[in-house]
Amino acid sequence: MDAISNMYLSIVIPIYNEEENIPALWERLSRVMAESFADPAKPWEIIFTDDGSRDRSLAMLIDLAKAEPRVKVVEFNRNYGQHSAIFGAFAEVQGQIVVTLDADLQNPPEEIPKLVAKVEEGFDVVGGWRQGRQDNDSFFRTMPSKIVNAITRRTTGVKLHDYGCMLRAYRRDVMDAMLLCKERSSFIPALANSFAKRITEVPVAHAERAAGTSKYGLWKLINLQFDLLTSFSLLPLQMLSVFGVITAALGFLLFLGLVVYRFMHPEGTAQGVFTLFAILFFFVGCQFIAFGLLGEYIGRIYQEVRDRPRYMVKKVHQAK
Ligand code: UDP
Ligand code: MG
Repeated sequence: MDAISNMYLSIVIPIYNEEENIPALWERLSRVMAESFADPAKPWEIIFTDDGSRDRSLAMLIDLAKAEPRVKVVEFNRNYGQHSAIFGAFAEVQGQIVVTLDADLQNPPEEIPKLVAKVEEGFDVVGGWRQGRQDNDSFFRTMPSKIVNAITRRTTGVKLHDYGCMLRAYRRDVMDAMLLCKERSSFIPALANSFAKRITEVPVAHAERAAGTSKYGLWKLINLQFDLLTSFSLLPLQMLSVFGVITAALGFLLFLGLVVYRFMHPEGTAQGVFTLFAILFFFVGCQFIAFGLLGEYIGRIYQEVRDRPRYMVKKVHQAK
C-alpha cells in the first residue's frame, strides 16, 4: 500500500483568481508544513480547488502539483463559489484531519499547527476566531458578518464568536458527514457544527488581503447570508406567524377602540387618514418582507429538488 491509507493531515484551499497570492501563499504554507509536520509517520497533502479562475492561477497550481507530489489540484469547469470549491476538495481528502483556509493570506498558514493541536486534543471542529479583523472593504464586509455571526449563534445554538473565518480544522468523520449533505446552499462552518460534539475556537491572527480584491460583492454576500439563514433554521418562517398573530390581535383591538370612539364621538371626522396611510405602508412593507422571505425558502427548495450537482470537476491534477 502507498501512503494514502495513513494520510494524516489534509489542507484544503479554494482558489479563484488568486495569481498574485499563490507564490507567497505557497512559500509560507510549505515552510509551515516542513517545519511543523515533518514527522514521516504523519503524512500530509494539500488540495487546491481551482474554482474556474480566469487568470494564471490554474497554471500556477498545476506547476506546483508537478513539483510537489503532495499537492493535488481539483479543476472545476467554471466558477461555483467558495463553499462548493471547498466541497470539491473535501471529496478528494485522504487525511484524518482536515484544515481549510483562504488563499489570500488573510488566514496566516502559520496558525495551522495550533488548530491541528486542538483536534489532536479531541475536538471535532476547531474554528479560527479572527483577532483584530482587518478588512479593506470595511463596512459592507464587516457589518453583514457581524449580523450573520449573531444570527448563526442563535439559530445553531452554538456560541462561537466567528463563523465567517474559514481557517478551520475538522475531524475526518465531520467532513464525511458534510459530504453526505446534498443540499447546494450550505454554509460549511454552520454545517460542520451540526455534526460535531466537541467544538472549540482558537484565536488566530487576521491580516489584510495580501493582493487582489475580495471575491465577494455585496450581492454574493447577501446570498450567503440568506443561505445561512434558510438552511439552518425555520425561525424566520415561525417569526412570520408570530408577527401575523400579533398584528391581527392589535388590529382587532384597534377596531374595538374605533367602535367605542365612534359611539363616544358620533361627530368624529377623518383626521386619521394620514396615520392610516402610515400604518398601511408599514404593513404593506412587512408583507413584502414576508413574501421575500418565503421566496428565499421556495427558491432554495426549487434548487434542491432539481438536484443539480454542486460543481463539476473537469480534471484532478496530481504528479504520479
Ligand atoms: N473563492 C472561491 N470561489 C469564489 C470566491 C472566492 O474559491 O467564487 C476563494 C478565494 O479565492 C479565497 C477564498 O475563497 O481563497 C475567500 O475569498 P475572498 O478572500 O474573496 O473572501 P473574503 O475574504 O472577502 O470573505
Ligand atoms: Mg479574503
